Amino acid sequence: MSERFYASCALEPGPVELEGPEAHHLAAVCRLRPGDAVCLFNGDGADYPGVVLNVAKKYVTLDIHERRPVDRELPFPLEIAVSVPKGDRAQVLIEKLTELGVTAFVPLICQRTVIHPKEGTLEKLQRYVIEASKQCGRNVLMRIETPRTWEKYASPQEDEVRLFAHPGIEGGVAKSEPRNRTRCVIGPEGGFTAEEVEFARVHGWLGVDLGPRILRMETAALAMAMRVTLFGTRNS
Ligand code: SAH
Repeated sequence: MSERFYASCALEPGPVELEGPEAHHLAAVCRLRPGDAVCLFNGDGADYPGVVLNVAKKYVTLDIHERRPVDRELPFPLEIAVSVPKGDRAQVLIEKLTELGVTAFVPLICQRTVIHPKEGTLEKLQRYVIEASKQCGRNVLMRIETPRTWEKYASPQEDEVRLFAHPGIEGGVAKSEPRNRTRCVIGPEGGFTAEEVEFARVHGWLGVDLGPRILRMETAALAMAMRVTLFGTRNS
């Protein structure tokens, strides 16, 4: 596969200019030169293969050959709601969730949540999504949602599966159609409070126990995403 670059604009066959961090990555890091093959994407579900025309100091000109729709998404929408972990662990989490095809990441605010992300943090998370999408070939970006409290996020919606990760919780069986939207929540480092667990039960969230060891929240989030993407939403 040619080296992939992200363009935050509409794309179509013909010449296009890239600037900013993507132009820097192409010219200074990957050291591509006129004539080299590239592939652009902008999150609209397609690859845009093309070639480098010109490399200048602040921008790069490319010639796009065609719009080629390539679907690398899951067959159903999957949301993962978890508090934002500290430092590098947030980057690892976002990178891996993007690779696994998760549709949306919801920064969850629970009673024991430590990080209440501001605009700057959300922008950083968005950048991690782009970096991971360049590498894994995704043509639709994982959405970074605005932070949501557990109370607000818990409200049931129609035709969906709701999964609640909690150590030792009794599991339930999801009755779902294969294409139903699935929402998964994972608690913060300090865990859910008894009140929050009860709230999940009242709102019809199905419990998921991920085994006898206590996982860090990002491990639990990835385990949930893998479980749902590989084995579906049946929980038995
Ligand atoms: N001390 C906390 C653990 C928090 S771990 C407690 O005992 O609840 C952070 C989150 O990861 C948990 O709230 C839960 O959502 C998820 N998690 C970690 N290990 C898990 C397991 N074995 N089964 C299900 N969920 C788990």
